[in-house]
Amino acid sequence: MAVERTLSIIKPDATRRNLTGAINKCFEDAGLRIVAQKRIQLTRDKAEGFYAVHKERPFYGDLCDFMTSGPVVVQVLEGEGAIAKNREVMGATNPDDAAEGTIRKLFAENIEANSVHGSDSPDNAATEIKYFFEGSEIIG
Ligand code: GDP
Repeated sequence: MAVERTLSIIKPDATRRNLTGAINKCFEDAGLRIVAQKRIQLTRDKAEGFYAVHKERPFYGDLCDFMTSGPVVVQVLEGEGAIAKNREVMGATNPDDAAEGTIRKLFAENIEANSVHGSDSPDNAATEIKYFFEGSEIIG
């Protein structure tokens, strides 16, 4: 399988509870390498742009409120099949449906405050990485 890069976001519910290190350990234990990382405060514009695909969904406004409610940690993860592997490590969107041992099962508060984001396809990974990082900020 090819080495891939994927965008990860540690969401405000997790930074608020000081879980950045615990979540990073899950990634590293799964063989994912953190090749870029920064802690930022999303502006409303930046959050709305990131989730534009969900604009018509009823939870869009709430989701953008939540994503701007505190700092996030944006990261690029690298590894063999990193996109699918990260989705596996994250677990299902709703923590009630997430498999044992996944980040969302371990840490998520609810379907919205679910601790992590991960790109879901190679195209989205490329777009989402560019949304937050210059090429020079990613050190493989
Ligand atoms: P993901 O790829 O697993 O993150 O899930 P989606 O792309 O479907 O949704 C994006 C994000 O929107 C999720 O991670 C949640 O934070 C939020 N979300 C998804 N579904 C719901 C919902 O039914 N209600 C609320 N309030 N938030 C949701």
